[in-house]
Amino acid sequence: MKTVGLLGGMSWESTVEYYRAINEGIKDALGGLHSAKIVLYSIDFEPVEKLQHKGDWDGAAKILIKAAKNIQSAGADFLLICTNTMHKVADQIEAALDIPLLHIADATAEVIKCAEIQTVGLLGTSFTMEQDFYKGRLEEKLGLKVIVPNATDRQVVHNIIYQELCLGKLQAESKNEYLRIIDGLSNQGAEAVILGCTEIGMLVHQKDTNTRLLDTTAIHAEMAVRYAIK
Ligand code: GLU
Repeated sequence: MKTVGLLGGMSWESTVEYYRAINEGIKDALGGLHSAKIVLYSIDFEPVEKLQHKGDWDGAAKILIKAAKNIQSAGADFLLICTNTMHKVADQIEAALDIPLLHIADATAEVIKCAEIQTVGLLGTSFTMEQDFYKGRLEEKLGLKVIVPNATDRQVVHNIIYQELCLGKLQAESKNEYLRIIDGLSNQGAEAVILGCTEIGMLVHQKDTNTRLLDTTAIHAEMAVRYAIK
């Protein structure tokens, strides 16, 4: 079995979900007392969040590259960055490493391709919904139509992520807001909605809506399991 490298802490609330999902996946696949071999480096999120909102992505990349190199030195065979947003600097991190990086958008793209989805909705931080590093990668890879909420609703989604979900606060009103926005995307033609922020799956579950949800945390963790036992 290969050793999974997890670059986490963004936020730690969702890193916990990765840790659990990967271990459960290995247990399901191999049985007995098998569990995942994991090197986890969990960063302090506050300085990274400050750099994101200042637009200093190179500064944030520096912190992540240092952590990623430590993960590599500690014996990981491949790396997952446990956040969609920080994939903005995935190329810089990948270039600094000798081990492969499993990109969260590529994992999601695989699922979308298998399901033959043509139009997909995307929820995440403003960075993920508005910039090209994520949306563009999906559109380019799959020739897919990616739709996002309007500006007001994007702000709602973004604020709930940073002011609640990353602090472990799960509020019924916020869940209703997300479900309203998911319905809106579905009415605009989305065949599925990507939960493109690793904390959203803590708040919104498939049983809450008829729209198909693509939870990037679960999808990314599943890819790690497959890769670890390949
Ligand atoms: N975990 C979130 C994501 O998947 C947001 C936190 C971050 O900015 O990294 O995008």
